[in-house]
Parts: sequence; C-alpha cells; structure tokens
Amino acid sequence: MGQDYLHISIEYLKGVGPQKAEILNSELQVYVYGDLLEFYPSRYIDKSKIWTVKSIDADAGNVQLRGKLNTIQVTGGKQAKRLSAVLQDETGTIELVWFKNYQYILKALKEGALYTVYGKPSEYLGKFNIAHPEIKLFDPSDNTKGLVMEPVYPLTEKLKSRFMDSRYISGLVRQIVSDPRFNIPEHIPVSVSKPLKLISRKTALYHMHFPADERTQAAAARRIKFDEMFILAMRSEKNRSNRLREKQGIQMSRPGRLFNRFYHENLRFELTEAQKRVIREIREDVKSGKQMNRLLQGDVGSGKTIVALFCMLMSIDNNYQACLMAPTEILATQHFLTIREMLQGLPLEIELLTGSTSKKKRAGILQALKSGSIHILIGTHALIEEDVEFGSLGLAVIDEQHRFGVAQRAKLWNKTEHKKPHILVMTATPIPRTLAMTIHGELDVSVIDELPKDRKPVKTVHRTERFRAEVMEFLRTQIKLGRQAYIVYPLIEESSKLELNDLMNGYDTVTDFFPLPEYQVSLLHGRLKPEIKDFEMRRFKNGTTNIMISTTVIEVGVNVPNATVMVIENANRFGLSQLHQLRGRVGRGSDQSYCILMTKDEMNFASKKRIKTMCATNNGFEISQADLELRGPGDVLGTRQSGLPDFKLLDLVKDGEIIDLAKRAAAYILKNDPTLSAAENEVLLQHLIRHQNDHFWGGIS
Ligand code: ADP
Ligand code: MG
Repeated sequence: MGQDYLHISIEYLKGVGPQKAEILNSELQVYVYGDLLEFYPSRYIDKSKIWTVKSIDADAGNVQLRGKLNTIQVTGGKQAKRLSAVLQDETGTIELVWFKNYQYILKALKEGALYTVYGKPSEYLGKFNIAHPEIKLFDPSDNTKGLVMEPVYPLTEKLKSRFMDSRYISGLVRQIVSDPRFNIPEHIPVSVSKPLKLISRKTALYHMHFPADERTQAAAARRIKFDEMFILAMRSEKNRSNRLREKQGIQMSRPGRLFNRFYHENLRFELTEAQKRVIREIREDVKSGKQMNRLLQGDVGSGKTIVALFCMLMSIDNNYQACLMAPTEILATQHFLTIREMLQGLPLEIELLTGSTSKKKRAGILQALKSGSIHILIGTHALIEEDVEFGSLGLAVIDEQHRFGVAQRAKLWNKTEHKKPHILVMTATPIPRTLAMTIHGELDVSVIDELPKDRKPVKTVHRTERFRAEVMEFLRTQIKLGRQAYIVYPLIEESSKLELNDLMNGYDTVTDFFPLPEYQVSLLHGRLKPEIKDFEMRRFKNGTTNIMISTTVIEVGVNVPNATVMVIENANRFGLSQLHQLRGRVGRGSDQSYCILMTKDEMNFASKKRIKTMCATNNGFEISQADLELRGPGDVLGTRQSGLPDFKLLDLVKDGEIIDLAKRAAAYILKNDPTLSAAENEVLLQHLIRHQNDHFWGGIS
C-alpha cells in the first residue's frame, strides 16, 4: 500500500542508478521515495512573471528576464578574470557577470540565442547588472506545461557538479507522484481537517513540489507544517493527559495557616495582580489531587521567588516538605538568606545544602530531612544526589530552569516513596508562548507578565572605551547618592587565564578610580573559595562595598535592590539573553537604575544588533524574540538537549499560529477520545503506531 510505496529505494527511479543514489544518500540523507517527497524546495521561481529590463529598480529583488544573449566574453587580467554577457529584451540591455567557476557556463552559452535568466540585479556606477544568475536556454514548451512555479532545491556543490540540479530533483519527484501507486493515507481526522481547512497530505506533498501559484504553495506548506507539529503535540498532550488521569498527585486541600499568616504578617509589599493570578493557578493545581508540572515564566525582577515561597507554604500547611533548587551556589545561598529572613517569626526549619556543605553538617541535614523536621530545603544540584531523601516531599521548585536538563528534573520526582511531588519550574528566559508549548509540551505554563508597580525601567546606554572616565565619574555620583554598582567582565570559561587577567586588570583600574578607604570594592569570580565568595556577596548585599566587580557568576537571580548601576565590559562578547539577565540585576528597587554597555569602537554586525536591541527595549519577550531571530531556536534553547525534533518546514519562531492550532487540535482529539478508539480516529491511531519509534504510548510522564 501507500506506506510500502514510500519505502521503495530511490535507486529504482529512472535516472538514479547506484552511484547517484549514493550521492543522494550521503549529501541529502535521501534514501527512499518518502525521503525525496519530504525534501522540500527552499524557494520557487515564479515563472508567471517575466520582468522587463527597463522595469528593474533598486528594490526589485530577484527577477526573471527573457532575452537574447550577446557579447559573451572573458575579460580582465590573470587575477581578476570574469565572464560577461549582455542580455537584451524589447526594453533594454543588462549585463550578466560571473567571477568564478564559469568555465562550464562559458562552454554552454550560445551567442544570439534566447535565454531565461533569474537573479538579483545590483547597481554599479548607475547601471544594473546581475552577478551569477541562473541561466537557461528558453524552452517554448515550458509555457505549455502549466507549471508556473519552478521548485529550487537546497542542493550541495557536490550535487551540482554532477549535474544533479533542481530540474533533476523535480524530475525524480515527478516520477514518484505520477505513479499510480502514489497514495498517501490521510492521518488527520476529519473533525480536525475540516474546520481548520487543511488540504489532504497527498495534495500538500504534490503542491510543495509543483504548486500552481503562491496560494496553493502556501496551503501546502501550512498542511505540512501542521503535520510536523501535530505529531509532537499528540505525544506531549498524551503524556500530559496520562499524568492528569493517573491522579496520583498529592492533594493539598487544606486552607493554609502558614500561608495566611505569612500573607498578613510578613509580606512587606502588595503582590502584583499577575503574582496573585499565578498563585491561584498553582493553588488550583495542587488542590486537584493531580500532579502539578508547571512552568512559571516571568521576566527578570518580576518576583518569581515570592510566588515560589507561597507555594512552599501551601505544601507545608498540608504537612509536606518543600525544596528549592538553584543553578549556582551563590544563588542558592541568596535564596536561603532571603527566604529565611522573610519567614522570620514563623515556626519553620529551613536548611541550605550545597556542594560545600561540610560532611558533618550534611549528615545532620540528611537525617533531619528524612525524619521530616526540616520544612524547606534550599540548595544546588546537591539536592538531587542519590542519598538525599525526604520524609515527605510535596513540592520541588526549580529556579532558572534553563540551566538544568530534563533528566535532572525527573530525578526530583523520585525523591519520595509514594506520590510524585508537585513540580514548579521557574525561568527568566521568557520565550514566545507557542515556543514554550513546543519545548515544554507536557508542562502547563503560567506567566507573570507584570513588574511590581514601583519599578522604573532601567536606562541602557552604549559607551565606547573613550568614555571610560565619564562612566567612572557617573558611578561616583551614584555612589554618593548611597547606591551600589556592578562591573561585570566576560569570563566564559572560569578557568581561562587570559580572561581572568582581564578581570584583574579591570579591578586595578577601578580601584585607581575608587581608592580605599573612601570606597570599598569587592571582587568575585568562580575560582574563589566558597567562603570568600560568600563573604564578598554578603558585604555587597549589606551595603558595605560600593562596587562589585565580577564575572557572570552573578548573572542569574542575584538580588541587591540598592544596586542601581550595571556596567558590562566587552558587552559585545555576551549573548542577548545573558545581557538581559545581567541587566536584570539592577532596577530591582524603586530608584532609577542604569545599564552601561562598554565596547570597543569596532564591532561585527551581530554584536551591533545585540547592543542596539538592548538599548531599545527592556522587555524580555522582545529580547528573546530578537535572540531567536539572530541565532535560531536551536542555539538559544539548546534544542538538542531538550529533545526537540528537527522540523523540515516548521519555523518555531515564525509559525506560532500553526503551533497553536496543532496543539489545540491534539488536545481536542484526546479530550473527546483519550484512547483514540473512535472510528474516525482510526487513521490517526494507525499513523501514531507506525511512528511509535518515538515512544508515543510510553515515554516520559
Ligand atoms: P525574579 O523574578 O527575577 O526571580 P525576584 O523574585 O528576585 O525576581 O524579585 C525581585 C525583587 O522584587 C525582590 O527584591 C522581591 O522582594 C521584590 N518583589 C517581588 N514582588 C514584589 C511586589 N509585588 N512588589 C514589590 N516588590 C516585589
Ligand atoms: Mg529569580
């Protein structure tokens, strides 16, 4: 049937043979008919439009021209040889040029013949020319084939050198789709395809290669993209509904005594509406008796910690313990100190466990943890070590989750014997909602989309080295006002000697400007002993030091509301999300804060773009959008680790609408027919079973 047909080796196509098959295998990973069908064109030449030479202007973009070819010649000296020719249509002439690899083109060109040319005109000395155009003899029969959009495939040099060009590929695809055995079984149930106006997969595959016009191509691409997301969405929705159906979560139904006491007696500020909403969402979750698995997104400074704290209190109110895991020792320690302070007066045992906790202390903590006398445990990766056992863990909070892998998250679930604890994952790398749903498919997502009212947006400026003295002067005025400042150096590798030198030189410069005893300057980097780091952090936090010079160890989560200036040295070397995180260290109180991005005069394009984005916006979502566009989701999110498939057509950044549709469709189907046993879902079930190498029915929960 259809499936077997798609698995026929491409060797059986006319014009392929063993040698070319080998090239298609190794260059394009195309082995069978199905692979070739899913090898989509990267663009199309719109043959319905022929430009005239006269109508070309600076914004023309790619154009297709038709005319007579004259004056074919090779000119220039030994070093700068080039091939040129003149194309002439009814309205004028335009020069075509080739600078390299033109030997075989030269051989093929015929003086005086009619050609079709495709390329991008550029202006030189007031005249247009086209460099390295695609060119072919005009074939009058082209017009009668009814094919107006010619597919152009993303081919490699090796293929092109063997004359396996786009025409060759489309010829192969045409063989496949014109065979009577070509049939693609439909796998999307009518209940979805009809309201969403999805064309059939068979038609879509055909039109991806041979669209009649832009509209048919767009409809085909929409269907294919939908398919790519839909299968993934079915899997994560299935996992999610399994989790919810299992009902083995811990039910936290009690109204909270500590929760209320904390709210009324300890809290020193009014929660934002967004914080209240998220706390309600979480409360509903943990009350339901189902296991919560929630992602909390919120820009830096939006106040995620307090939300986590309320949830931990819910857990304790119901006689369960809670833990909070942070990615660095500094952050864990800070959480420990602030949480302990905030909870003052409440009858609670809070402990800190990190890699540098002494053996003796650790043994005591483990004991108390097991017996249940510790209510809240805060720490680093040390929390997920084998021998850390809780008496009754009810909630695990993971802060700044992009630093932790999925596997580590899973480890937390096995910390208690009976029911899985609720999991709250917090991240300050805000990403578009649709993207979050794709990557964290089986998580529910909450968003704090509001900053505390008293916050003023951080003012961000870009300064080059020439302004060093002025920048230092500015720091001085801020310090006079009683504020504090960070100066951060890029130390990507904590072990790099060279970069450490940068930092130490920076320290010397700064202490020249800010001498003892008038000023106190702290220094912090990853190689210092934990107790020294701790000491410096505390000194800065309690206001003893005016300036903190550090590496990115302070990047995430550090909270010193009195610090109002963030100077980032060599800012061009940081990525966007890192810059945003660093800037998030200031603007945490009610005073006006500043971020100064220091760079050299010269910068490459991407660096300029990053600096510009930072100066233009404070909004984390906008920044991550720009980051995604600059680097692509793979690099931004480390999709390799997060197990995201490589989509062929779907663009995670641009196709939010389709992602949303596919996700909702999957949820809808599973809601009405959780086991896919209805007759109309049979097609889908069969399809999923065929693709169960991706563990559809098992998989992670
Ligand atoms: P993040 O979301 O970046 O982790 P934090 O939880 O560290 O942010 O909060 C940043 C600062 O804002 C902290 O000093 C915290 O006490 C304070 N804060 C949190 N919520 C509010 C609020 N509703 N009003 C005023 N300040 C708040
Ligand atoms: Mg935080």
